[in-house]
Amino acid sequence: MCGFCRSDSLTTWRVPAFFDYEKLAHAIATREWSYRLLLWISRSLESGLLQPSRAGRHYSGAEAAALWIESNLRFIPAELRPPPDELEEFTAFFSTYLTSSFDVVVEQPDPCGGIRVIGYCDCQVCRRIQNASHLRAKRVYARDKRRAALLMAECLTLMAMAHKIETTDERIENLLSHPSTRQQAAFLAFGHWLVRRLSGDSDGPAVLALWRMIAWDPRGGMRRGFVLGLGHFRSAERALLASLRKE
Ligand SMILES: [Zn+2]
Ligand SMILES: [Zn+2]
Repeated sequence: MCGFCRSDSLTTWRVPAFFDYEKLAHAIATREWSYRLLLWISRSLESGLLQPSRAGRHYSGAEAAALWIESNLRFIPAELRPPPDELEEFTAFFSTYLTSSFDVVVEQPDPCGGIRVIGYCDCQVCRRIQNASHLRAKRVYARDKRRAALLMAECLTLMAMAHKIETTDERIENLLSHPSTRQQAAFLAFGHWLVRRLSGDSDGPAVLALWRMIAWDPRGGMRRGFVLGLGHFRSAERALLASLRKE
């Protein structure tokens, strides 16, 4: 049984699918878990118990997150502690969660009065963990939106290939120009990257741009009552498949 989504199997849908729904459910649960852990870290930094990672070179975000979690495991409440057999996936995902979604606003004033504390790691992940209470959602720029459109087109092409549907770039672009299919494609691409993030693979802020397309109200802020679930991905996949066949 999986420790994050607490399910044995979710594969009841037998149609050849774009998504592996079991993995997707797991990725959704890991994302929520990451959110809760980050919230806890931001509230617990003041206790002074949490240890920043010593300066060293963290070769990847996943490695930085893994080392921090390992050395602070005993302080993390049991319900937020990643299960040992999923630690690797969790830390990989958690690092992408930090670096793709947030920027540090103000560096915390350091304890020795204005002089930068030397001796702690300052990589992208460690810096965000150490400043967890000073994070703000990344800004999404036009280039991120363009990149997001490219990711959507890529996923649609993959889907067409998987179902042996012939298509062209123009047709795909045409699909993306309609608001409803565009949003379905955003689900497709967001879901695809959600799963890839379990291996520490993220496309950066473009993924955040996709998230805003599916979860945000066009007037700004989260859509009221929006909770990401498998149903969203299932209906997006079905609708897009039908549209691809119709074209
Ligand atoms: Zn799971
Ligand atoms: Zn680091």
